[in-house]
Amino acid sequence: MSQRNTNKVVIITGAGRGIGAATAKIFAQNNFSVVLVSRTLNQLQAVNNDIKETIDFSKTLVFQADISQKDQVQKLFKTTLDYFKDFHILINNAAIVSTTPFTQITTEEWDQIMAINLRGAFLCSQQAFRAFEKLGHGGTIINISSLAGIQGVEKFSGLTPYTVSKFGIVGLTESLAVEGSHLGIKVNCIAPGAVDTEMLQKAAPFLKTDTKPIDIAEKILKLTLDSEDQDITGQIIVLGS
Ligand code: NAP
Repeated sequence: MSQRNTNKVVIITGAGRGIGAATAKIFAQNNFSVVLVSRTLNQLQAVNNDIKETIDFSKTLVFQADISQKDQVQKLFKTTLDYFKDFHILINNAAIVSTTPFTQITTEEWDQIMAINLRGAFLCSQQAFRAFEKLGHGGTIINISSLAGIQGVEKFSGLTPYTVSKFGIVGLTESLAVEGSHLGIKVNCIAPGAVDTEMLQKAAPFLKTDTKPIDIAEKILKLTLDSEDQDITGQIIVLGS
């Protein structure tokens, strides 16, 4: 993919490893200013060091936050705007999974998955909408669901809360595309199949895949650019089967 000349600012949640880390790197390679977010500072710093060693021209900001916490998400957006004075793209990528058999899931476990996977995406999206309105320009949000969140695709035992949360991400996407239509805010979603990451090892080690985080990162970048160039919104892009 050819490099873009852009001074646009992108916030990527879950950028400490896996798909989020690969996405941070590919946006940086394409001259975006990148805000890397997760709960584990040393993972973010490792990704940031990698970016800084290999890419001269990108500006990055590391921000440690739990996206399920409203005050931390507010601080993330305030810090981003204070630092870069602008903001254009949100990638709602952070998520967790558990593999507890259905009859043993506690309400705490259910709530934690919904808090991170769904409330986190809601809080970040709401801050993004407010920032775009304040800045007086539109913007782009890319949500990361999963084949688990797509109707009719095979489901796996033990993943019920995760699956429900990923259906929620699809609903959030379709709804926010409508909410954002008069504001120039485009909201789209990518639903990948199995990708070789820590999450897959935990959730479904029996699934063998050749898909690497960089493969999904390329799709996220392409969908972001297409959303902006071709006025695409409300789309759920299903990858694999
Ligand atoms: P991963 O390797 O486990 O990485 C998840 C990232 O999210 C980590 O950086 C993690 O860092 C961060 N995160 C988790 N909870 C967070 C919180 N409360 N606040 C901020 N950051 C948080 O997962 P992945 O496989 O790259 O998955 C990325 C996305 O792709 C997820 O939305 C996942 O559902 C989706 N997906 C993955 C697959 C797959 O097969 N891997 C397939 C379909 C969809 P900390 O834990 O340090 O916070």
